[in-house]
Amino acid sequence: MITLTDISKLYQNGAVEVTAIKQISLNIKKGEFVSIMGPSGSGKSTLMNIIGCLDTQDSGSYELDGIQIESLQEKELDRVRNQKIGFIFQSFNLLPKQTILRNVELPMIYGLYSRKERVERAQLLLDKVGLGDRIKNRPNELSGGQRQRVAIARALAMNPSILLADEPTGNLDTASAADIMHLFSQLNEEGTTVILVTHDPQIADYGTRIVLFGDGEIRSDVRKTHDRNVG
Ligand code: ADP
Ligand code: ADP
Repeated sequence: MITLTDISKLYQNGAVEVTAIKQISLNIKKGEFVSIMGPSGSGKSTLMNIIGCLDTQDSGSYELDGIQIESLQEKELDRVRNQKIGFIFQSFNLLPKQTILRNVELPMIYGLYSRKERVERAQLLLDKVGLGDRIKNRPNELSGGQRQRVAIARALAMNPSILLADEPTGNLDTASAADIMHLFSQLNEEGTTVILVTHDPQIADYGTRIVLFGDGEIRSDVRKTHDRNVG
């Protein structure tokens, strides 16, 4: 589903050129649950931004579901991103003045859903993450773990094939973090490909594959033997 071949990305930091990732090749199959680890500055976010079609590489090729990403125009890239990728962030990134129902409904505004379908789907997704009875609340009336559940429901709105999560448990206590990780595992078992970045080995361990970054390169890539539904 994801084939990265010899991907490099450079950044110009004033007069200094930084190679954020160096000729990375990585193949991720549908149904995998990949944890990406590595020190700060090792290129994890750069890779996630490329996989999520938020940024493009300087060299190498990226194929996503048979689509050659580097050949797309900006508009097509936006469309691929909106259709295929759900993003989850450390800081939840919810709209504070909107109800949680509205937060989950918003990504669907640009889709082909009617208002009624949007509300029904948002309700369904909030039921799925265990917040079906909180639809009228605003984010600040929920705990951190609950807010992240809303963000996950929102990420699922357009039925993405891939969930990309950057430190999704970074702002959560241990119990809420475990809760969120169980939800990711459940979604993964239902067929969604999950790719997450974490500093925490216990969080990474929920993945079925652990990719370790160092200095813009992949240092190790370990699959667990009990991989489910990968194909
Ligand atoms: P983390 O270490 O938690 O992954 P970073 O602070 O490295 O996050 O990066 C957060 C975001 O800021 C990323 O999207 C990255 O592309 C961007 N970024 C990182 N370093 C720089 C920099 N030197 N100049 C501008 N943007 C940067
Ligand atoms: P990580 O997510 O592992 O912390 P990043 O991908 O954010 O690493 O960063 C990798 C390297 O690229 C770092 O040296 C960082 O400072 C640099 N970098 C990342 N994004 C930018 C940017 N937008 N502008 C300049 N330098 C960047």
